[in-house]
Amino acid sequence: MRKSMALLILILGIQFAGLTQTQSEKPKLVVGIIVDQMRQEYLYRFKDRFVEGGFKRFSEQGFMLTNGHYNYIPTYTGPGHASVYTGTTPATHGIIANEWYNRQLGKFVYCAEDSTVSHVGGTAENGKISPRNLLTTSITDELRFATAKRAKVVGIAIKDRGASLPAGHTGDAYWYDSSNGEFMTSTYYYSAETLPKWVSDFNAKKIPDSYLKQTWNPLFPITTYKNSLPDDNAFEGMFVGKTSPTFPYHLDSLKSSNGGYGLISSTPYGNSLTLDFSYAAIEGEKLGQRDETDFLAVSFSSPDYIGHRFGPSSVEVEDNYLRLDQELAKFFDYLDQKIGKGQYLVFLSADHAVAEVPAYMVSERVPAGNFNSGMLSGQLKGFAMAMYGEGNWVLSYSNEQIFLNKDLAKEKKIDFVQMQRDFADFVLRFRGVKEAYTATDLRSQEFTKSRPHLLQMGYNHKASGDVLLVLEPAWLTGGQRGTTHGSGYSYDTHVPISFYGWGIKPGQSSEYTTVTDIAPTLAILLKIKFPNGTTGNPIRSIVQ
Ligand code: ZN
Ligand code: ZN
Repeated sequence: MRKSMALLILILGIQFAGLTQTQSEKPKLVVGIIVDQMRQEYLYRFKDRFVEGGFKRFSEQGFMLTNGHYNYIPTYTGPGHASVYTGTTPATHGIIANEWYNRQLGKFVYCAEDSTVSHVGGTAENGKISPRNLLTTSITDELRFATAKRAKVVGIAIKDRGASLPAGHTGDAYWYDSSNGEFMTSTYYYSAETLPKWVSDFNAKKIPDSYLKQTWNPLFPITTYKNSLPDDNAFEGMFVGKTSPTFPYHLDSLKSSNGGYGLISSTPYGNSLTLDFSYAAIEGEKLGQRDETDFLAVSFSSPDYIGHRFGPSSVEVEDNYLRLDQELAKFFDYLDQKIGKGQYLVFLSADHAVAEVPAYMVSERVPAGNFNSGMLSGQLKGFAMAMYGEGNWVLSYSNEQIFLNKDLAKEKKIDFVQMQRDFADFVLRFRGVKEAYTATDLRSQEFTKSRPHLLQMGYNHKASGDVLLVLEPAWLTGGQRGTTHGSGYSYDTHVPISFYGWGIKPGQSSEYTTVTDIAPTLAILLKIKFPNGTTGNPIRSIVQ
């Protein structure tokens, strides 16, 4: 009896295995795509002219979370990349901004800086990069650990932080050196003195030189860009040496006055270059062509540079997305060939979205404004002197946080909790400031919704400031032209979260989802551990 039972189970087991053979046990490759500054709405606004097989793979063949958000303040690039890949927020992973004032050191630190390492390839000034400031593991780390590091992880971006934070502590990372036009890494990642051969072969082709000879013209007749403002308007920033923010952009003549090789970052050719290097990485490292699941983490930095300069309602931004869409379609076709249809898993997200240009909003009678942080800094010092006498009371005002001199307060026997409160009350007098919270507020209670919750998720006990400001909607620190991001409002938090390929059934959900849910979702799909600081949850509609 027992024997036949065992036989039956065996036969059933074999049959079951046979039935599921179409879906392999694990994907050959995971491709993480972050589009720097991409809003969810772009997937709809530009859809009419998207080709088959680009962004439409996510909206039509993948699973799209239409209500995906950042769940902390501030929404910047470093924290954004860290949060997607670690499944948690700055409160836990420690990347509280792109750069922030460090009390212990008495100076600013950059999120991906590491003075103990040096450049491999590229130039010395761009090589002191590692993920050492990231306090938790990433999903890419967990994939490495789950496979005794057989799985390969490669992070790629023009921005160093867009490559190094996604690659985690144990992956490889390559970024673009804007000084010499090469992709480079640091000794943190690579102990040899020279770059891997596939990287130096790529650099030897001098691809940036050919892009920088191009003229950026719109892909379609300019009169057909109906989803954007007219090309010539008063809200867009300009390249140095150009008197209007209008097409065409002759890169050859703009190059010397606009950052040399760095100019490529501010054009759609930056996306092309990022993909050129991604193809080289897949070939060079044989990603997705071995027995283990590999991970390619690509971040497109150029949409952010273009968006800052021209704003989200510009023809330039629209054209950038139409071009990126076509390049992604080619890339996915290549992956279909190289890795195999259904054999790779892709996700798409952004590291934050973006605000409208305040001057444009004002011109449409929407309350908005530019906040003058230099002026506030001066006023804070004056206020401190009047309240507490001579002394270096305000150590820094940065990232909309005030860092106060706790040691001096102790020395002069001033109640530090009250001092925070005084500053919070003082800043509320300024136009454009909506709310102010003290570090004591954020440490002594748990906020569960709205702005204080977002601030708390971005508040790191050791690293963050003593008073945290929230500006009014549509207010930001910047000039008359161009725009930025960083707030907790939906225009900055609402980003694409979408999955496509291996293990993903097509569908859509408008359930509130956060970017910190991406990593635990991947962990469930890949059957590996969650990153060690995870606070997000697997997305139910995908993993069930
Ligand atoms: Zn960014
Ligand atoms: Zn940005």
